[in-house]
Amino acid sequence: MLTENKIPQSWGRYPRVKPAQMAPVFWRSELPNLADTQQSILPFAYGRSYGDSCLNEGGISLDVSHLNRFIAFDEAEGLLRCESGVSLADILEVMVPRGWFLPVSPGTKFVSVGGAIANDIHGKNHHKAGTFGRHVTCFELLRSNGERLLCSPTENSALFRATIGGLGLTGVILWVEFRLKPIVNAYIDMDSIRFESLDEFFDISAESDADYEYTMSWVDILIGGKGLCRGKFMRGNHNQARELAAKPMKKRLSLAMPLDLPGFVLNTLSVKAFNEAYYHVQVDKRVHKVVPYDPFFYPLDSIHEWYRLYGKRGFLQYQFVVPFTTGHEAMREILGRIRHSGEGSFLTVLKKFGDIPSPGMLSFPRPGLTLALDFSYHGKKTLNLLNDLDKIVLQGGGVVYPAKDARMTAEAFQAFYPRWHEFEQYIDPHFSSSFWRRVTPSEGALLPVMNGK
Ligand SMILES: Cc1cc2nc3c(=O)[nH]c(=O)nc-3n(C[C@H](O)[C@H](O)[C@H](O)COP(=O)(O)OP(=O)(O)OC[C@H]3O[C@@H](n4cnc5c(N)ncnc54)[C@H](O)[C@@H]3O)c2cc1C
Repeated sequence: MLTENKIPQSWGRYPRVKPAQMAPVFWRSELPNLADTQQSILPFAYGRSYGDSCLNEGGISLDVSHLNRFIAFDEAEGLLRCESGVSLADILEVMVPRGWFLPVSPGTKFVSVGGAIANDIHGKNHHKAGTFGRHVTCFELLRSNGERLLCSPTENSALFRATIGGLGLTGVILWVEFRLKPIVNAYIDMDSIRFESLDEFFDISAESDADYEYTMSWVDILIGGKGLCRGKFMRGNHNQARELAAKPMKKRLSLAMPLDLPGFVLNTLSVKAFNEAYYHVQVDKRVHKVVPYDPFFYPLDSIHEWYRLYGKRGFLQYQFVVPFTTGHEAMREILGRIRHSGEGSFLTVLKKFGDIPSPGMLSFPRPGLTLALDFSYHGKKTLNLLNDLDKIVLQGGGVVYPAKDARMTAEAFQAFYPRWHEFEQYIDPHFSSSFWRRVTPSEGALLPVMNGK
């Protein structure tokens, strides 16, 4: 296998693992012999996972980002077939001017189609469209024994369901076919509504779910008090005006974080000050705008390498979902515990997941209230806080998202995802990850180096 000097890292820059050997794959017609290697293998695309689910310390990271070719588009059915390293940004650039949009998109467009499947990602339209995996009609999976399997809901269907949300452990996805959705133009009709409590968030959600395709909220959890939080509820639909289809999109300005900020810059006080300013910058309770899709879906993409805000020690994302029945109580406990810890989450996002079932065996989304938080890494203090949050989430019948995790215990993972045993039989015997060895430690005896070495 060829090697290159790229060091695989995840977005949170925590944990920093010893570099895996990087092995690029350039062509579907020139695939490496995966059975030959003594080390375990894990596909790596753009490293937009936050923790260690995309890392393979001491093993081989198979760089699939060069598999970035479009293969075919069936305009009648809206079916796009492309290689797995094609990014969502590439797809938007080519398909939006032709009147097509992604079925589901996360908060960054710099992820690959393969990564979108492996984490069965969700977006602002979960309540209307479910996860990305629901829109996948088939893909080709390379196993380490050289087999190339077509997987779909009807062919190799168990492997199809294991690979969706399968954390890259079932083989290399070579190409994917999935359904796009038609749009009239590149603009979104959006509302931003200020809310002053969790109850008000629920009220606005209830009023919005049926009529708005996209919903999500920025929240200030440090405000405390009876209302628990305050925030801005964002909701939107694709604009339907034909005349806007011809309107050229302004190029979006982007900045790059030039350096790692010193660790002390983001602290509870600075986060409080930011929250205060951001909440009040919108003077009216409700604002309506027509905006290009890019800033609506990807507000953070305009600051390249924004993880540097958190300094050299990196940060931890924490996203959980709890059922609606326990959601209010779990939120009260979780927010109380966070405030008590003195750790401030700089960017906190709240959303309701809908009840469209996720297709993957280990998919994270399920009906309930989901909150995504990020914390600067302050060693044990941060880790203890997140372990405590795990317990509250578990008690409330919820789960934590592996794509954003860097520290959950094996006990917690196995309680969150009891189907991990069923999933295990579909793992390719030559594949593993830092995450998987951490959460299923019995496997650690064999890997990352094969044959027990
Ligand atoms: C700013 C930001 C916002 C985000 N917002 C959201 C969000 O709203 N919703 C959400 O669900 N997620 C979100 N994420 C997480 C992100 O969408 C996922 O982690 C995504 O999987 C990253 O894709 P990637 O291409 O960078 O893959 P990587 O991070 O490199 O890898 C992710 C996983 O995919 C596997 N993989 C990659 N390519 C292949 C392949 N060809 N074959 C088999 N396995 C493969 C890897 O082994 C790994 O397990 C966000 C991340 C960031 C940084």
